[in-house]
Amino acid sequence: MGTRTFCNCQAQAELSRAELAPGLPVQQCEACGGVLLGMPDYRLWRERAVSTDVAGQDAFEVSDSAAARACPGCTRLMQRYRVGVTPDFRVDHCPSCQLVWLDKGEWQGLAQAGLATRLSEVVSVAWQRRVQSDELRARREAGLRSKHGDACIDELKRVREWLDAQPKREELIALLRAGW
Ligand SMILES: [Zn+2]
Repeated sequence: MGTRTFCNCQAQAELSRAELAPGLPVQQCEACGGVLLGMPDYRLWRERAVSTDVAGQDAFEVSDSAAARACPGCTRLMQRYRVGVTPDFRVDHCPSCQLVWLDKGEWQGLAQAGLATRLSEVVSVAWQRRVQSDELRARREAGLRSKHGDACIDELKRVREWLDAQPKREELIALLRAGW
């Protein structure tokens, strides 16, 4: 990316060279604090980095932009990939240009969640599927909790875990049903 690239934030500032972590070059927008990261650079950094411990100590806020961004490489809309942590945010990725856009605070958010070194996984279909199925499961459990109460569901979970660990699980469940 030798050409000049401008941010599509309000200021439309020109991106300038910066380092996200030692040995990890990015193009940064001074105005909005977002960074453009080339996945080949990222993978190189992951292989070479002496320390990938990038967890920041400073307080930060993730300012996940609501709208999809145009890819600076091909101008098509970047795909949004959910990180699936709390608080959740999305990173923008263009698979064809191998570019990731991180809004201000998102790198710190990844680092805090222990995912700064797993960005390649986050921007994968498998990761997105897992985030969705985790969410579905959480929603289902929340529904059960409001219907039966926390104490009941906690106890049920405990019993289920115990049952799952039993070699004669099916036989025990049959016993329960039959009321022996
Ligand atoms: Zn692109």
